[in-house]
Amino acid sequence: MQTGVTETEEERLSALYSFRILDTATEQDFDDIAELAAAICDMPISLISFVDKDRQWFKSVKGIGLRETDIASSFCKYTVASKEVFVVEDARKDLRFANNPLVTRQPNIVFYMGVPLLSEEGYALGSLCIIDQQPRQLSDYQKQSLKTLARQTMDKLELRKKLFELQDAKSEIVKLKDERYIKENEAREVIEHAPMAMALHVGRDMTIRFANSSMLQAWDKDEKVFGLPFADALPELRELDFPATMREVYDSGIPYRNEDARMSYEYQGEIREFYYTYAFTPLKTPEGKVWGLLNTALDVTEIVQSQLTVERAEEQLRLAVDSAELGTWHLDLKTNQLSLSPRSMEMFGFETTEEVSLEAAIGRIEEHYRGLVNSSIQAAIEENQPYDVEYPILSSDTKRCWVRATGKAYMVNEHGPTMFSGTLLDITERKEEDRRKNDFIGIVSHELRTPITSISGYAQVLQRKAQSLAEPAMADIARKTKQQADRMTKLINGFLDIARIGEGKIRLERSAFDMAELVKEAEDESLTTITSHEVVFKPVEFTPVEADQDKIRQVLINLINNAVKYSPPRSRIQVACVTEGNHAQVSVKDEGIGVPLKDHDRIFERFYRVENEQMKTVKGFGIGLFICKEIIELHGGQIGVESIPGQGSIFWFTLPVIIQ
Ligand code: ADP
Repeated sequence: MQTGVTETEEERLSALYSFRILDTATEQDFDDIAELAAAICDMPISLISFVDKDRQWFKSVKGIGLRETDIASSFCKYTVASKEVFVVEDARKDLRFANNPLVTRQPNIVFYMGVPLLSEEGYALGSLCIIDQQPRQLSDYQKQSLKTLARQTMDKLELRKKLFELQDAKSEIVKLKDERYIKENEAREVIEHAPMAMALHVGRDMTIRFANSSMLQAWDKDEKVFGLPFADALPELRELDFPATMREVYDSGIPYRNEDARMSYEYQGEIREFYYTYAFTPLKTPEGKVWGLLNTALDVTEIVQSQLTVERAEEQLRLAVDSAELGTWHLDLKTNQLSLSPRSMEMFGFETTEEVSLEAAIGRIEEHYRGLVNSSIQAAIEENQPYDVEYPILSSDTKRCWVRATGKAYMVNEHGPTMFSGTLLDITERKEEDRRKNDFIGIVSHELRTPITSISGYAQVLQRKAQSLAEPAMADIARKTKQQADRMTKLINGFLDIARIGEGKIRLERSAFDMAELVKEAEDESLTTITSHEVVFKPVEFTPVEADQDKIRQVLINLINNAVKYSPPRSRIQVACVTEGNHAQVSVKDEGIGVPLKDHDRIFERFYRVENEQMKTVKGFGIGLFICKEIIELHGGQIGVESIPGQGSIFWFTLPVIIQ
């Protein structure tokens, strides 16, 4: 605040500025008043003056050429300060003005009379004044007229001010309108591009002001619904409870949200079921009055329906698992936590309330099978192989239960699978049945073997006798009898092998030998026994293995005999043995009927034979490959087939070689 400017002066100045009169152009109305004042009072000079902070400024001047003077030489400031009619009869004799440049020089003021211009609020803004260059006396009429003119001036000013205020208000309205327009357009823009259905409702009848295309689609409507009350626009939804809910939100001002709500209504001419997650958000004025609602909705029909499908599938699976009396298990690979279903707990002989660790469960498996189970689990997790093993559980000191466990590792992240789960099937009955069959096969084979061996011996004696008696026909019969008896012995030996495998009684008698030699022996044998086919043995390098030599020979001979059995006479059979990494791989290749892909695994099962026309002419029991597989796997090797039906097969097996 400047010195000499009181608080009231400040208020006065701001009142003056509110009239926005300073520095404006001359106006006829005001000039007329000044002219009239001068004429009525017969004065050469008249002014309408406003007293600013540092100057006095004249809106209208008659008789002099000034538009403003500094405040120091102002007469009017005295009029303003007194708020009364201020008269100086002879300025030359008045100490306040004698040295005033306006007195000593042009316009040489002698007489001055000022009438204050008082605003409605009572502030003196300036004065209407008359001036002469000689002393004067004014009549009461003249003084009165001057006061009236001053009031007139003020009326004009007040009017102007009101006009300004009106204009201001008008432009404020225009501005607000513009802003609202922009805001509403922005809101529309946002709503239109929102990733969910949205609509703007106004008023208690929920008139639709705007809805985006997703909402229009959900309603199955077009833009014609804009401007209509909700109930009129969407009569199809009248039955649903959200018109009432919307009104409740409107009346209470409390937002509402509903998740996965099921609703059915007529859509494109048919009653359809939908699921929506929707919300009504009240829109309020700054004073808190609700004026509309924002309606947002997300169509979750597909998500909910697929969830329901999954739930139904889970329910079906649960029923299937329960009715098959299957147990389920689940291993969390992150925490190594094992969860067993009540049925699985029962199979393992655990109390249903017990916490069971993986180690505790494996501890209940018969010792002999633990290695197999562990390596199968490892293969399933690390190599994503299907897990399928059969093992006996000692669920108590006396109870032994056989199970088939199957499963799969899944839910892979960057560190590998995180879950490993599957089912357990109680196969004790089947195993018992197998055991009974095996026992039967074992006993029968055993009982048959003794008489067949005798028959073979007698036939041999008979053959020699007939030869010495020079009875070639009889000798031939005896030879054929022996041949048949030997075939039968082989068959019986096969059955005995099966029985032994079933009982886990096949024992390996391992020794170190060279596979090249074994292949050589097989070559020598086939040269004498196989005349129908061209059997080619590829040269084999020294390949040391530690294995049961007789059993490996049995496997190789079996594969060669099968190649002969299942390929046309005079076709070629190739036998090879190569070392790859730390395994020797023996292969037998033929140009025969081949094996359909679907049977590649199954032909290694017990008693399995491919079923087709060509097979009908070839005799067999389907036990050879089963025995081969057992023997090879007991050695830690693998056996398999590659084949194109009609072109031939390659049967192969591997054995670990002795690392030198
Ligand atoms: P078998 O020959 O007595 O039937 P195997 O166990 O030796 O029993 O063979 C099982 C089945 O595998 C055979 O029945 C046949 O369908 C198929 N098979 C085996 N070897 C061959 C081969 N070299 N070519 C085509 N099919 C074969």
